[in-house]
Amino acid sequence: MDVPVNSVWQQNLFLGSWQNGDGEQVDIMEPATGEVITQLKAATPLDVDRAAIIAKDAQKKWMAVPFDQKAEILRRAAALLKERAEEINGWNTRECGSIGPKADWELQATYEQAQMAAAMPMQPNGEIFPSSIPGKRNYWKRVPLGTVGVIAPWNFPILLSMRSVFPALAMGNCVILKPDPKSSICGGALMAQILEDAGLPEGVFHVLPGGPDVGQALVEHPLVKMISFTGSTAVGKKIGEICGRMLKKASLELGGNNAQVVLEDADLDIASSCGAWGSFLHQGQICMQTGRHLVQSSVADAYIARLAARAGNLACGNPAQEQVHIGPLINEVQAKRVEGIVNRSVEMGARIVVGGRRNGNYYEPTVIADVTSDMPVFSEEVFGPVAPVMTFDSDSEARDLVNESPYGLAAAIHSGSTERALKIANQIQVGMIHINDQTVNNEFQVPFGGMGSSGNSGRFGGPANIEEFTTSQWVSVMEEGMQYPF
Ligand code: NAD
Repeated sequence: MDVPVNSVWQQNLFLGSWQNGDGEQVDIMEPATGEVITQLKAATPLDVDRAAIIAKDAQKKWMAVPFDQKAEILRRAAALLKERAEEINGWNTRECGSIGPKADWELQATYEQAQMAAAMPMQPNGEIFPSSIPGKRNYWKRVPLGTVGVIAPWNFPILLSMRSVFPALAMGNCVILKPDPKSSICGGALMAQILEDAGLPEGVFHVLPGGPDVGQALVEHPLVKMISFTGSTAVGKKIGEICGRMLKKASLELGGNNAQVVLEDADLDIASSCGAWGSFLHQGQICMQTGRHLVQSSVADAYIARLAARAGNLACGNPAQEQVHIGPLINEVQAKRVEGIVNRSVEMGARIVVGGRRNGNYYEPTVIADVTSDMPVFSEEVFGPVAPVMTFDSDSEARDLVNESPYGLAAAIHSGSTERALKIANQIQVGMIHINDQTVNNEFQVPFGGMGSSGNSGRFGGPANIEEFTTSQWVSVMEEGMQYPF
């Protein structure tokens, strides 16, 4: 795939002041080869201040832009995503190690977010409430928050930034986006270019590529009224603390350690296919990854054999050069982390059925059996292509194992009886449960989000977006003023 390197990110990312700032020139690495593919000037905490001041003024004007014009800009952005698919997907592959179908899916999902956001400005934005006082009208309306800070991770960098950026803009906010430094081009620069070309007025959207210091400055900035964060639980907790102290709205979409429960009456071909997809898609670097396969003892051997056969059939390699199922992990630190978790679990008695080897940034799709709940492969979010299998005997034991994790993002339950599966579903504490399907599910029109250590119940998607990216205001009108006792 021919990627036009050095074509976009040197251009205006909507904030000229940032480009003239004193941030360093940083390397953008290609995970598949370990080579530097381009460089990008990083933003600094000072740039956050500059952007926030510009955005404060721009927001007043943007809020006043008629709803149909806002919608038109978002529709144009959606169209540009499609027009530039080859370029965007090329970057997703080169910069993030995404295989073609993952890049295609991410782009389509982002397009759907833009289309959905384009429909938001035309929605009614308030209600009229009755009053006990004659001649008084109570209007209750949704109003923009002001400037929204969006902090995004590198695994689905386009979707996980734009699912916040588009609806926040649609509701009349300005946005400052801080992409992860490992995905600054496709998760930041390309999106800035698209919104600029779509006609978004200058100053409304800022991309500030940088590290945790830039993210922290964004969280702490008093002119930034909301933080929409997607990333790890550890960082999410720190951000939540700061936002709590500042009484700032925080939407936290965090990590997961998602279980797929396979009951003895499940279709094992379907369950193992779902399990393989859920564990190995994008090398397992997905918050909704199936991190725990909980299988009823009587069918465990048959399930493991099917899952291992599927894992063994997956081709591993550089997705920019060949058609593969499994690309590289994002960098060596992550690949070594995955290796360490597997090795420590094996030392504790786990058995590798297939895979288990690292080669540079690549890690083989791996199935591990004889897993117990004290092993790191069970208790930690692995974020790599690893499928740990643990057995259980009764439905209540399966329920307890699911609930044992402090995370609560997604789960899947496989059974020939949807009633039986639903009974378990009703007793587990996760935000999204899929019966006879896999854990990595996302539909733009359905609210998405986790519980427990997976997030603070902010919700993206569908009708939830309106509440998420606004605050509310009560305006009452007295037709004639009245006298009070004082
Ligand atoms: P991370 O938390 O390390 O980084 C996420 C973002 O936060 C990056 O942009 C990073 O630069 C920034 N950041 C880091 N420290 C910061 C700080 N102190 N203040 C402000 N910003 C800071 O996460 P990651 O390793 O990039 O992503 C993987 C994690 O994200 C996994 O745990 C995964 O499960 C989670 N995730 C969750 C969802 C979801 O929707 N729930 C989706 C994707 C990924």
